[in-house]
Amino acid sequence: MLVMMNAQATPEQIDAVCRKIEEMGYRAHPIPGSTRTAIGITGNREPVESAALEALPGVAECVPVSKPYKLVGRELKQETTVIDLGDGVRVGSAELAVIAGPCAIESREQAFAIAAGVKAAGAKLFRGGAYKPRTSPYSFQGLAEEGLKILAEVRDQFGLKIVTEAVDHESLELVEQYGDVIQIGARNMQNFSLLKCAGKARRPILLKRGLSATLDELLMAAEYILAEGNYNVILCERGVRTFADHTRNTLDLSVVPAVQRLSHLPIIVDPSHGTGRREKVAPMSRAAVAVGADGLIIEVHHQPDRALSDGYQSILPDDFARLMAEIRQIAALLGRVVCE
Ligand code: PEP
Ligand code: MN
Repeated sequence: MLVMMNAQATPEQIDAVCRKIEEMGYRAHPIPGSTRTAIGITGNREPVESAALEALPGVAECVPVSKPYKLVGRELKQETTVIDLGDGVRVGSAELAVIAGPCAIESREQAFAIAAGVKAAGAKLFRGGAYKPRTSPYSFQGLAEEGLKILAEVRDQFGLKIVTEAVDHESLELVEQYGDVIQIGARNMQNFSLLKCAGKARRPILLKRGLSATLDELLMAAEYILAEGNYNVILCERGVRTFADHTRNTLDLSVVPAVQRLSHLPIIVDPSHGTGRREKVAPMSRAAVAVGADGLIIEVHHQPDRALSDGYQSILPDDFARLMAEIRQIAALLGRVVCE
C-alpha cells in the first residue's frame, strides 16, 4: 500500500501520516518526489486498512502496490532516484557516474598510480577492493583494513569518491567508516542478512546483480536494503552465466531498460566483469552508455599483467582516457554528460 500525499501537503501532515502508520504496527517510508511525497508501508501481513489513512489531512489517496517490491518500484516514485555523494558527485542524474580503478587494492603505490590516471581522464569515483570474494581460498584476498586506509588516502589526495566492497558484517562496518559507497558483490546479492545490514548503513549501496539472478531477484534484493531504511541503492549489471565461452559472463544490457521501466533506482554497468576480456571493455562500455545506463564501473590497472586479481580484464589508464572521450560523444547524443 502507498499513501500518496497531495502536492500541498505540509511536512507536519506527512509526519502525522507516518506516525499513524507506525501506530498501526507497520513501518512508514516517506519518499519525496518532484511534485509530491509518497509514503510506502511495509511490515503488514494483511492488506492495510486504508480508510483511517485516507481521512488524514494532506492525503490524496491510498493505492495498492501491484508488484512484490514496494519501495524500489516506479509506483512509489516516478522519477529516477538521484544519489548525492557530495561535492557535486551524483548517480542517476544527467551526468554519467564513472567509477574506475583496480579490481583490488594491492599497495599504496599501485592505488595512487591508478588513481592519478583515472582522475586525469575525468573519473570522479575510484573503485578498488580491500576485501575480495575469490573463487580460490589461495588467491589474493585483499589487504583488508590496510587497503581501506589506502583508499581513504586516495580520497584525500585526489578528491575521488571511494567505492569498495563489503563481504560480511564485519567488513561492512569498516567499509562504512572508510568508503563513500558500499559495494555488495554478485556472490552476495542474496546474502539476506548482509543486505539487511546494508539497509541500516549510512552510506549508499552499489548492489551487483548475482551471477544467475533474474530481474525480479535483483529488485527484491534491493528491496531488502530499502525496507531497512537505506533508500540510496545503485543497481549494477555485471554479466550473468550463460553457455557462451567467448566471454567470462554475458553482459545483459537489455536489463538496463527493463530495470528503468520497473524501478526508480539508478543502474550502472560493469563491462569488466561482464566480459572478462580487456579488449571487449571499451565496446561494451560504449554500448552501455548508448542503452541508457546511469554510469559505468571499470577495472583499470597501470600494470595489468602484474595485477593480483582480474588483470586480464583490466584496461590501461590511457585506454580508459580514450574510452572517456568516446563515451562523452555518445552521452551527448542522449542529452547526458560525462565530466571532463
Ligand atoms: C569486483 O567488482 O571486483 C567484483 C568482485 O565484482 P562481482 O561481485 O560483480 O564479481
Ligand atoms: Mn574484479
